Order: sequence, then structure tokens, then C-alpha cells
Amino acid sequence: MKTINQRVLNLEKIESMPYISSALAHEIRNPMTAVKGFLQLITSSDFNEEKKKEYALIAISEIDRAESILRDFLTCSKPHFNNLKNIDLCEEITKVLSTLQPLANLSMVQMFFSSYTDQFIQGEGSLVQRFLINLCKNAIEAMEKGGILSIRTWDDNEYLYMEIKDTGAGMSEEELLQLGKPFFTTKGEKGTGLGLMLTFSIVKNMEGVIEVTSELGIGTTFLLTFPVQK
Ligand code: ADP
Ligand code: MG
Repeated sequence: MKTINQRVLNLEKIESMPYISSALAHEIRNPMTAVKGFLQLITSSDFNEEKKKEYALIAISEIDRAESILRDFLTCSKPHFNNLKNIDLCEEITKVLSTLQPLANLSMVQMFFSSYTDQFIQGEGSLVQRFLINLCKNAIEAMEKGGILSIRTWDDNEYLYMEIKDTGAGMSEEELLQLGKPFFTTKGEKGTGLGLMLTFSIVKNMEGVIEVTSELGIGTTFLLTFPVQK
């Protein structure tokens, strides 16, 4: 029997401070421990230059990871936008899709975008791009054996709707309930589990709403609704 799981997402789960502090400390301490280890290896005389360079590059990538975790966290905790503008969502989607084209090619994912609106929404361009990248990357990452990512936008004068639909692995009800919880990831070391928390936080600040529908083995649809800028 097929079960379709559905949920409207909210930010409740971030409000648990002790949980967040320990999870964040853990996420930052891991890369720090790794960097320390590699720096110790580099300073010992047992390795040739080539090996040391390899260790330095790993250390840099660990620092990059810690930096991006902190960046996502800070963005979530910042309550307001600095630079609110009227955003042409379709233009932002087009930019993001071209950035993600190489990743889609690698995963044999075909991307389609169709727009049936010329309305604007309020937001900050760079943040809109960040949540779009998160949602589209998640969709591509859910389609390990290839698939279709389709994005559609439309409006009814009051609201602008954006649907991001993939034909990927889908989520169980338990997974769906965890969505948006900081550090929830099913991707092991490759994931940070911060992408959706960041997405919800940005979308909420834009007075938007996110609904997710998912079916295991069939795919997932994110529906975002934003008030149209009059
Ligand atoms: P990360 O991508 O680093 O794991 P996210 O916050 O972006 O963190 O996503 C959290 C988890 O939600 C993912 O690990 C995955 O299990 C699930 N998820 C998110 N989007 C999708 C999707 N489109 N299809 C299937 N699972 C998804
Ligand atoms: Mg992600």
C-alpha cells in the first residue's frame, strides 16, 4: 500500500536551545579535531612535501565545512533582512538552475522550469538564491539513479506559488517529521542537516509557507507560497 506523507513546515524545532548548542558544538568540534590532527601530521618530519600538501588541503576543506555551518546558523538567527527588494523569483530560479546544471548532469537529472507568473515577491536576492539552491540540491541528491526535477511557478494575484518536484527516493513519515530540525540528515558525513532549517527561516521571514508531500520510492514535492508584492 502506498502512503503519501504530507506536512506543513514550521520552525518550532529550532527553539530548543540546549539541543542546538550541543549539536552545534559537536558539528564544529569535529572539523576542529580533524584540522588539529592534520596540522600535527604536517609539522612532523615523517612525510614528504606532496603528502603534507594533501593534508593541508583536507584541513582547508574541513575549515570550509565549519565555516559554512556557522554561516547557515548565523543567517537563521538573523531576524530581518538587510536589503529587502522586489524579487523576480523566475529570474532567481533561472540563475540557480544554471549553477546546478553540472551537478544535475553528473546525477543524470533532467531539470525543467516553467513559469506562469510575472508577479514579484519581497525578499533579499542572495538569500532567495540560497534557499532555492538548498531545495534543488536536495532534490538532485534524492535522485541517485537519475530522474526529473521540475519547477513551476504561478499566481492567483494574491499569492505566488512555487512547486519543486522530484522523482527521487521520497521520505517516510518519520523522516518528514524530522524535516527542519537542525542537523537532521540522512546523508552521513556528506550532509550538514542545516539546509532546510535555513530554508524555513528565510521563507518564514518572507512571510512564506512551505508544504511538503512525499511518497517513498516515488518522489517529493515542496510547495512554497509567498504573498505577491502589490
Ligand atoms: P542535508 O541536505 O545536509 O542532509 P537538509 O536540511 O537540506 O540537510 O535536508 C535534511 C534531510 O531531509 C536530508 O538529509 C534528506 O533526508 C531529507 N530531504 C530533504 N529534501 C529531500 C528530498 N527532496 N527528497 C528526499 N529527502 C529529502
Ligand atoms: Mg541539503
